[in-house]
Amino acid sequence: MAFRSSLLLSQILFLFVVSSSSWTSATPAIQQTFFRCLSTNSKNSVPLSAYYTPNNVSAFTSVLNSTANNLRYLLPTAPKPVIIFTPLTEAHVQAAVICSRRFGLALRVRSGGHDYEAVSYVSQNESPFLVLDMSRLRAIQVDIPRGTAWAQAGATTGEVYYRIAQKSKVHGFPMGLCTSLGVGGHITGGAYGSMMRMFGLGADNVIDVRMVDSKGKILDRKAMGEDLFWALRGGGGGSFGVILAWKLKLVNVPQTVTVFTVTKTLEQGATKILYKWQKVAPKLDDRLFIRVIIQASSAELTANRTVMTSYNALFLGDPDTLLRIMGKRFPEMGLTRADCVQTSWIDSVLYIAGYPNTTAPEVLLQGKPLFRNYFKAKSDFVRTPIPVKGLLGLWKIYLQEEVPFMIWNPYGGAMARIPESASPFPHRCGTLFKIQYVATWQDGTKSMARHMSWIRKLYDYMGSYVSTNPREAYVNYRDLDLGMNKKGVNSLTEASSWGLRYFKSNFYRLVQVKTRVDPDNFFRHEQSIPPLSVKKGN
Ligand SMILES: Cc1cc2nc3c(=O)[nH]c(=O)nc-3n(C[C@H](O)[C@H](O)[C@H](O)COP(=O)(O)OP(=O)(O)OC[C@H]3O[C@@H](n4cnc5c(N)ncnc54)[C@H](O)[C@@H]3O)c2cc1C
Repeated sequence: MAFRSSLLLSQILFLFVVSSSSWTSATPAIQQTFFRCLSTNSKNSVPLSAYYTPNNVSAFTSVLNSTANNLRYLLPTAPKPVIIFTPLTEAHVQAAVICSRRFGLALRVRSGGHDYEAVSYVSQNESPFLVLDMSRLRAIQVDIPRGTAWAQAGATTGEVYYRIAQKSKVHGFPMGLCTSLGVGGHITGGAYGSMMRMFGLGADNVIDVRMVDSKGKILDRKAMGEDLFWALRGGGGGSFGVILAWKLKLVNVPQTVTVFTVTKTLEQGATKILYKWQKVAPKLDDRLFIRVIIQASSAELTANRTVMTSYNALFLGDPDTLLRIMGKRFPEMGLTRADCVQTSWIDSVLYIAGYPNTTAPEVLLQGKPLFRNYFKAKSDFVRTPIPVKGLLGLWKIYLQEEVPFMIWNPYGGAMARIPESASPFPHRCGTLFKIQYVATWQDGTKSMARHMSWIRKLYDYMGSYVSTNPREAYVNYRDLDLGMNKKGVNSLTEASSWGLRYFKSNFYRLVQVKTRVDPDNFFRHEQSIPPLSVKKGN
């Protein structure tokens, strides 16, 4: 029976590949066959409401678009899945893996949909494909006496913060500043946030996991062994299995913290202050995280346009202590008592995420991003301060774009103390800060080529000022310009082009783990970790 349905699906899928006109007619049959397989292989019944095909265009499009963060990958030309399945139980996830493998259907896993290049819901190198959307598996259990929490993959960062704060004013968790990220994908790539200088990354504070492997088996930390557990905490999503849930070690935060934002334009001495920030911010008290958000003063390319550098900060302490530190170490920024806002940790989360002042924390339960754009982003790590001359050249290119955007995040503190090989995330000691470059636009394909070309030009310019051999990049800021796996089979050489930038020499250990746990490369995408050689039959 299984063989017959497999044959039927292969034929249907073949038709789908060779002829786009067969797409619509093939879909109902795929739906029935795959759905039957899910139901047969899951110990919990599978409701039809968890299952979407292009047959029902409006429901299908609505669920596909629901968390997709980069509008560039929702354009009509972007490849679409043949099925989206939103599991309601762990057994459903197991069945999805078993059936995808049985029918040779490529699987993409999505939790929060924030992948910069959308590999969680768009496949550029394989068709047809299925999206396993984890958004309905989003339970969070917080255990304050033990200082831990379990969060299912589909929960957002904001929901986790909210549930912790609901139970305690003095506990938190150090992951993303953005509150709509899915913890399933976010933590697999590292997960930095405004407490990283004090506590490290989200991935550094995970103590257990539940994951479905390529055979459909559920593994926890003990069952999977330390090597795979290591790989999951920073090795990037979509390479080793489907994360069901993470067990988080909560951290202690003060009852009140201090936040501020101070903005300096070029006319107010922004260049010199930013030059000083590069030397000071990575060496400040671990409790102090001052990032720099860099924008243009207007979207019009006029002569009086300027660059605005906003110092946006969290201090895990009181304003008086903060003012003392800043007065001594960074007086050039000119922080005053009036700039400082003393608040609870959960309100600081809203502040840093960019919500208006009066927003109630309940907004975090909506799990929605503040905005969505067409965008392209890239990243760099800096190990030596960029000289003033370099900054002046940067501003020239910067002001050629309508809505240029950069965020500079300071490292040091706990980030520098955690050894480079402790997790796959290697950007530790010696890193002064990370740069994220973003080009955004709103008019779809109309101006896309111009923005893509601008960000690549900016990246080329910055090459002389950032890390080299390799030029490091952050895996959670996925950038397909760095290279892509070719259809189906990944070669180590191809993958090294991005693997060494994301993971440095940890890349080789990731490949070893992959070879052991998923030798036939079932979990794969444009930048997944390749096994040493792909077994036949995949
Ligand atoms: C607006 C915005 C703000 C951001 N802010 C931050 C920040 O403050 N700090 C930071 O570190 N990063 C940040 N990021 C980057 C973010 O961490 C990554 O995009 C991350 O991969 C998002 O996870 P996700 O589950 O939302 O994305 P998805 O698109 O769902 O998944 C991302 C990757 O993980 C895989 N994956 C997803 N779920 C699972 C699962 N359950 N099991 C296995 N693999 C899975 C996917 O296949 C894909 O490869 C930001 C991104 C955006 C768009």
